[in-house]
Amino acid sequence: MSDSFVVALDGPAASGKGTLAELIARDYDFAYLDTGTLYRGVAYLVLKSGGDPADERAATKAAQSFSLDLIAGADIRTREIGAGASKVAAMPGVRKALLEFQRRFAHEPPGGKKGAVLDGRDIGTVVCPDANVKFFVIASPQTRAHRRFLELKDAKPGLTEADVFADLAERDARDAARSDAPMVQATDAELLDTTHLSIEAAFAAARRVIDGALRRRPS
Ligand code: C5P
Repeated sequence: MSDSFVVALDGPAASGKGTLAELIARDYDFAYLDTGTLYRGVAYLVLKSGGDPADERAATKAAQSFSLDLIAGADIRTREIGAGASKVAAMPGVRKALLEFQRRFAHEPPGGKKGAVLDGRDIGTVVCPDANVKFFVIASPQTRAHRRFLELKDAKPGLTEADVFADLAERDARDAARSDAPMVQATDAELLDTTHLSIEAAFAAARRVIDGALRRRPS
């Protein structure tokens, strides 16, 4: 059993979990892993080699030989790669291949850090069911579409908020309906609804929970 203090954040796209995870990691000096990067990375590698992310054999092969170096500098935050990521993420062989890396990151954080923050869809339920603190971060679909639209619009002239809303709805439905590690709130996760919260207020709420867990932790 490792001594690493693990914070898990799950929830749908653009709920604010990534921003929160980064703030938590910086404030507590923990290592941070955005696990969506792994699924996006697999989709990117399949697309780059001329394949289709829906091709289970190609995606599983890419996941089995995946490393973060392979996607260094690549723009993986596009709509196409987001859609491909949620397709490869429904494949059990892909999830299995990426599981060990995530667990190792959590329990032996790089850089000798004393804790790790992981965000994704199944961190509190599958990757780290024993995490010290778990959050399930949500926001209304309209709020999430608006946030993601603001992130993407400069790079994609002509993109509308309705396009982004439709993308997110499709991705959420696939992520929640898949049989392997679906996106679901862990029974022991704190629900954090950021629809009407500033990032400062969401962070303050998260800090209260984390500080409480750190105080209760046996030394
Ligand atoms: O968080 P992000 O939008 O980058 O994730 C891209 C896709 O990767 C998600 O829509 C989801 O299908 C998948 N994913 C997952 N499990 C995780 C993280 C991401 O299935 N832990």
